[in-house]
Amino acid sequence: MPRNSINLLIILAFSLISACSEQSAVPGAPDQGATQNGAQTPQSPLQAASGGEQARIEGPVIVYSSRQEHLIKPLFDRFTAETGIEVQYQTGEDGPLIARLQAEGEQTFADILYTVDAGNLWSAAEKGLLASVDSPILETNIPDHLQDPQNRWFGLSVRARTIAYSTERVDPAELSTYEALADPRWKGKLCLRTSRKVYNMSLVATMIERFGEAETQRIVEGWVNNLATRVFSSDALLIEAIAAGQCDLGLVNTYYLGQLQTRDPDIPVALFWANQGSSGVHVNISGAGVTSYAKNRAGAIRLIEWLSTEAPQHLFSELNLEYPANAAVPSVDLVASWGDFKPDTLNVEAAGRLQSRAVMLMDRADYR
Ligand code: FE
Repeated sequence: MPRNSINLLIILAFSLISACSEQSAVPGAPDQGATQNGAQTPQSPLQAASGGEQARIEGPVIVYSSRQEHLIKPLFDRFTAETGIEVQYQTGEDGPLIARLQAEGEQTFADILYTVDAGNLWSAAEKGLLASVDSPILETNIPDHLQDPQNRWFGLSVRARTIAYSTERVDPAELSTYEALADPRWKGKLCLRTSRKVYNMSLVATMIERFGEAETQRIVEGWVNNLATRVFSSDALLIEAIAAGQCDLGLVNTYYLGQLQTRDPDIPVALFWANQGSSGVHVNISGAGVTSYAKNRAGAIRLIEWLSTEAPQHLFSELNLEYPANAAVPSVDLVASWGDFKPDTLNVEAAGRLQSRAVMLMDRADYR
């Protein structure tokens, strides 16, 4: 079938999917659907995909993405402008996108899976949906702990999950670690987001790796005992609850505070970098892998490599207030204003590998 007909089929096939995993903070975001990006054609059909692989790039690169359109389209537009390689994408929730990739098998149109959370990438790789990539560019740009040890996925942006606290009711000198939030001194003062959110599954999974199950369960039970309110459905609501005095502190991904600070620079909530004397701040990634049955593998590698370079890495910081995965690239001023921190350098694959144990543990600890 000619590539254009395939593209049309994709557009039709995906017109029913409209959900996305990161709920929009942007009102009036355009409807999602397979979207064609740019109209330029490659200047040269023979492209160096990487130092490790060289192949002919034909047709568009097709991406299944759980990232929202407003976070990916500016990146893909710039890639197309620079390389002449067209990008088409479909956004959806992680679970359904991975299930679709699995159901489509060899017939899939997707060249790249692009998701948030290492747990999702790990799960796709475990199902055999992602292929190993040998790329000196990615090995140089992306730190080892932010990529699959078997090179089936690579982190592209970093999200830090740490302690947010009320600047009116908490002295940061009282804060130290995730574990210490289990201390009875915080009874009735802690806010948590639901344990059903993969961010918390990943955090607890890395705690299991570090402390073992018994100790981690003791910590999580301590958190639950300290809850001020029922768990929240989003980090943004949690931060607003701290600001409103419903609770004094909680665990959040930093970009959510950034979004709120953009609207209200005086919001009385600040970040505390957890575990600086020990394991470091829990970090997770958004990241991508080339699918096992990619029809445009060379183009897919080229796009992921490009996303690891300076300008797009800075755009991650600009677009969603995340941290660049490429340590050589600075964050935007607002993000930099939160100060430097020592990240946890445990490989993020632990978040996937131990995720089901984390879910069972949180259930046993009555963390809903
Ligand atoms: Fe998020």
